[in-house]
Amino acid sequence: MPEVRFEHIVKRFGSFSVLEDLSLRVEDGEFLVLLGPSGCGKTTLLNLLAGLLDVTGGRITIGDRDVTDIDPSQRGLAMVFQSYALYPTKTVEGNLRFGLSALKLDRAEIERRVSWAAQLLQIENMMGRKPSQLSGGQRQRVAIGRALVKHAGVLLFDEPLSNLDAKLRTEMRLEIKKLHASLHQTIVYVTHDQIEAMTMATRIAVMDQGVIQQIGTPDEIYEKPANLFVARFIGAPAINTFDATLDMKAGRVVARHAPTAIEIDLSRHDFRTKPEAGMPVVVGLRPEHFSVNDASRDDGAVRMALPVRYSERTGSDATAFLEAGDQLLAVRIEPSLMSGLRIGDTMVASFPTDKLAVFDARSGLRM
Ligand code: ATP
Repeated sequence: MPEVRFEHIVKRFGSFSVLEDLSLRVEDGEFLVLLGPSGCGKTTLLNLLAGLLDVTGGRITIGDRDVTDIDPSQRGLAMVFQSYALYPTKTVEGNLRFGLSALKLDRAEIERRVSWAAQLLQIENMMGRKPSQLSGGQRQRVAIGRALVKHAGVLLFDEPLSNLDAKLRTEMRLEIKKLHASLHQTIVYVTHDQIEAMTMATRIAVMDQGVIQQIGTPDEIYEKPANLFVARFIGAPAINTFDATLDMKAGRVVARHAPTAIEIDLSRHDFRTKPEAGMPVVVGLRPEHFSVNDASRDDGAVRMALPVRYSERTGSDATAFLEAGDQLLAVRIEPSLMSGLRIGDTMVASFPTDKLAVFDARSGLRM
């Protein structure tokens, strides 16, 4: 399967610049997810690759072919859209076949590919139906099937699961992941949904305002966010952040507006860049790294005794929100603890200092 390269891409709509000098390499056979908030430019980037938009500057290559000025149909790609884009008057089978009409295949090959895709996506028993007679999930499967029959080297997905309900989304996530595991196609997948990105990608490119903020495996992005934007964008509930000041002499960080309880020993922190005394920083504490009512006093963990403002349960997880000055601190707790919690109770939450993330408040970069 071919690799895809974006080299120094510029895209402007009139005087409005969406992408300025963006370079990105999608490795051969990888499942790359472009993840970012609405308007960050991810669909624009995908459409440039698909040839649905022209670049203002830069080059795009697929394998060893420069496709920048090549017609979309000749790029060796197949695309799945959020809206499914099925032909309403054609049956499921007709929709699958239609994708092949431009490829000039012989009849036996068309039959073989259509029945292969129908079997793979389990839509064989609905081949005679029209799209209006299908559920949302079934339509999306047909749309994926129509892309798969092309046997394109690169498969593009533009928010394909956005119109599905939560249960179907979970099922389709798994199906798309299984497809990639068996077909090894190069996939470029656009979404603003971090769960989709975290569960399916081999690598994630996190974008904000037309700039790739970080590229890495889901683990790298989550555990070692390059900057505050990435740290805050990934994770639900979101990472807790506090403005703080570095007190290097005492080897600690002191949160500025939070209660005095938040003073964190930095002796275990492995700085990537040299810290300066007194510099403004932002400290990040992920909700799931806390432990509560933990009596052990061995590990240099920071302990905070704070009042409970409220708590919520989402299925197998529960989160308590503690009052930390004028901020709320989200702390993941065992759901079984919820029944004993009263608003205003003091909860003792401990945070292991080696899990602390420290960011330069001026640049936003992780230190
Ligand atoms: P979403 O998740 O909402 O689709 P996105 O990250 O995919 O967002 P894009 O659709 O790539 O974002 O849009 C990036 C920016 O470019 C937005 O500010 C958008 O308004 C602008 N834009 C997109 N298409 C055009 C166009 N044809 N003309 C002018 N501006 C455009």
